[in-house]
Amino acid sequence: MIKAKAFAAPSAKAPLAPFSFERRELRDNDVHIEIHYCGVCHSDVHQVRDEWGKGMFPMVPGHEIVGKVTAVGSKVKKFNVGDLAGVGCMVDSCLDCASCKEGLEQFCERGFVGTYNSKEKDGTPTFGGYSTSIVTREEFCLSIPKNLDLAAAAPLLCAGITTYSPLRHWNVTKGQKVGVVGLGGLGHMAVKLANAMGANVAVFTTSPSKVDDAKRLGAHEVIISKDMEQMKAHMGSFDFIIDTVSAPHDYNLYLSMLRRDGNMVLVGLPDTPPTLAAGALIMGRRKLGGSLIGGIQETQEMLDFCAKHGIVSDIEMIPAQKINEAYERMIKSDVKYRFVIDMKSLA
Ligand code: NAP
Ligand code: ZN
Repeated sequence: MIKAKAFAAPSAKAPLAPFSFERRELRDNDVHIEIHYCGVCHSDVHQVRDEWGKGMFPMVPGHEIVGKVTAVGSKVKKFNVGDLAGVGCMVDSCLDCASCKEGLEQFCERGFVGTYNSKEKDGTPTFGGYSTSIVTREEFCLSIPKNLDLAAAAPLLCAGITTYSPLRHWNVTKGQKVGVVGLGGLGHMAVKLANAMGANVAVFTTSPSKVDDAKRLGAHEVIISKDMEQMKAHMGSFDFIIDTVSAPHDYNLYLSMLRRDGNMVLVGLPDTPPTLAAGALIMGRRKLGGSLIGGIQETQEMLDFCAKHGIVSDIEMIPAQKINEAYERMIKSDVKYRFVIDMKSLA
């Protein structure tokens, strides 16, 4: 077994604290990654605090993992020792159902194995990336392009793919008016990606202090969502809206921003759903959908897209010891725009 140091939540809602555990010995198709950096996603907070249901504890969160390959199993083909590699939200799936065969492992009909707060097929609990190493089957490891800053590439493994996938699925193209609701980890990636796809991007934010940043990140317009005059000026004008907000809020207001036949997609997953007004959909034949991360092949495509366009996350690096403070700041929308843990702090 391979010893790993980590930060874990001992129980729901308890602060994270140092934790030691063991990774499995490498199987034939496993890759061992020495983790250099791991991004901090709002999903980590939701799960550590049991906001999505009862979690498995102790919990080592973290699904925006990047580092260096230090060993490979005898049948591994895509990775060599020394390569840069990443792991996102999934570490296994059946690879046999219709969804898996289409490269949509996130919708595996038998359920995918999550990077943490989940169980491997043999029943052992999974532990995530707030740790010094990970052992993952090669099908679920991604190649990190060398021209990207490694620490700033970590958030691409969740925030990047979660916003890239719906932009692609709903065919966002040049000239379309795209709204991004919430300028946090996911939101700021959506702005960069939609801008690179040629869209006309508008950010809806509750934080007037983020206006300049939003423009720097690639937004053409910024709308303070609490200001009804500003909101009214944009009603009925959007082709596509991606909602990344982590807390309950009024979806109907954003639906009314869509033009006829426009699409709004939820990626933010608050613990309680708001009321949906049928009229907000009926008037204008609007559509409301949802999207979950992205498949492995599409995640690699997104990484290569980011390498081509020079896109990474804006990050604030923290030592693992500051994780509880980072959670508090994230809940207050005080992140610019993703915390990333420097794993050297666990050495
Ligand atoms: P984050 O960095 O905390 O960003 C969320 C942003 O939402 C905040 O920065 C804030 O932006 C806005 N916001 C927060 N509270 C709000 C409120 N009460 N009303 C209106 N706006 C509010 O979180 P994240 O890591 O980007 O994650 C966002 C959500 O996506 C979480 O629920 C997470 O679990 C979910 N998620 C889903 C998937 C998926 O596959 N679907 C994958 C990853 C994460 P402003 O300051 O600009 O208003
Ligand atoms: Zn995430």
